[in-house]
Amino acid sequence: MNVELINTGSELLLGRVLNTHQQWLCRRLADLGYVVTRQVAVPDAGPNIEQAVREALARADLVITTGGLGPTSDDLTRDLVAQLLGKKLREDASIVKHIEQFFAARNRPMPVSTRVQALVPEGAVVLPNPHGTAPGLAMKVDAEGWQLENCDQTASRSTLNPQPSTHSKWLIMLPGPPRELRPMFSDTVVSLLHRVLPIESEYVCRTLRTVGIGESQVADKIAGPLCDALARGLDLGYCAHMGAVDVRLAAHGSQATQLVRAAESVVREQLNPNIFAADDETLEAVIVQLLTARKKTLALAESCTGGAIAHRLTNVPGASAVLLAGLVTYSNDAKRRFLGVRAETLATHGAVSEVVAREMAEGARRATGADYALSVTGVAGPDGGSEAKPVGTVFLGFASADETVVFKHFNPFDRETFKSVTGTQALEILRLKVMSTG
Ligand code: ATP
Ligand code: MG
Repeated sequence: MNVELINTGSELLLGRVLNTHQQWLCRRLADLGYVVTRQVAVPDAGPNIEQAVREALARADLVITTGGLGPTSDDLTRDLVAQLLGKKLREDASIVKHIEQFFAARNRPMPVSTRVQALVPEGAVVLPNPHGTAPGLAMKVDAEGWQLENCDQTASRSTLNPQPSTHSKWLIMLPGPPRELRPMFSDTVVSLLHRVLPIESEYVCRTLRTVGIGESQVADKIAGPLCDALARGLDLGYCAHMGAVDVRLAAHGSQATQLVRAAESVVREQLNPNIFAADDETLEAVIVQLLTARKKTLALAESCTGGAIAHRLTNVPGASAVLLAGLVTYSNDAKRRFLGVRAETLATHGAVSEVVAREMAEGARRATGADYALSVTGVAGPDGGSEAKPVGTVFLGFASADETVVFKHFNPFDRETFKSVTGTQALEILRLKVMSTG
């Protein structure tokens, strides 16, 4: 099945708004087995939207548009689609009522212009919008008729799926605001898709998440052992993030579950213990789980990461059960006062040193009584590097009742990336230590 997504909005092309619909919808659709085959963003201009819809309908079985359903002059999608498909627009009384109630509930007069949102192309299914005024619209499009009458030859020849479609195509128009689009998709579109465009073959996708190992190393280790599965139709993909690599295993068809499950055990065999989680689970969530299960507590002594590790951990619900304190000791004075790092150590070795990382981690445990402490001290740059300690040098300390260890890493990136990669490395040290203590 070919699925195409058209995101409308000049703000997307001007770089003013991040196209989050692209990721959100592609992800939700893929999880349901409707993998998007093509996506395009177009400005709020009639000819661009019309051309994009025309071309997409020539290729795809399902076309989803986002944006342009509102009441302003740049909201063109509904009109253009009706025109393109030769459908008349009629006012839907129940939508008018919904819009009236929407404004009445907010004690605001209903602007006349909003009434345009009650116009529905004939034959369209109305997708209610409880969070806004413009409903979504879904239209069945006759595949044969569309291809022959409305589509130029170039467009139909460029199809990704050369077999002529025997079933109908569907065109679904969703509103632009994410807080309207997301619930509408989950509450209405999913069930509509299952009903009108059921997935004929099963689709299974599993992502295994690794840290502490580079992308090519990951590939080297698993490509060979996965040969068989690849020959049987496994789709293997890699996604490298800063400091982490995801391995995606996917398959279609009646054997999909078995194939992906077998591939997963091969990958686990090759890449353990670098695999920290599967699918959407984050490293910080895994750590909160691990510490909670073991009833262990944690303290952080952060310098160059500026609280980034504390931020990540506190994004996880339930972090309060394990995180006692996060100290951002940015100055030498703060390292001395709050962590008990010795003045002599700082003077002899400098703030970015193995010994200071060690004293920071031990000091954080002492100050808070936590079972474990992590410390970070480094040169984020762009200034402050030296020959001995170039920009990107970072020391990561771990302290427990049994030991204190310090690791040295080199992360010569911009400040934001530096924080993110360093944070991942620190959390990974903690994960491996906690797991090794059973
Ligand atoms: P409205 O009734 O608010 O005008 P609409 O359906 O006409 O809704 P747009 O006008 O295209 O939608 O977009 C409304 C707002 O939704 C935009 O200002 C933008 O903030 C957000 N938005 C639109 N498209 C996207 C997108 N692809 N990703 C993220 N946000 C988006
Ligand atoms: Mg709008």
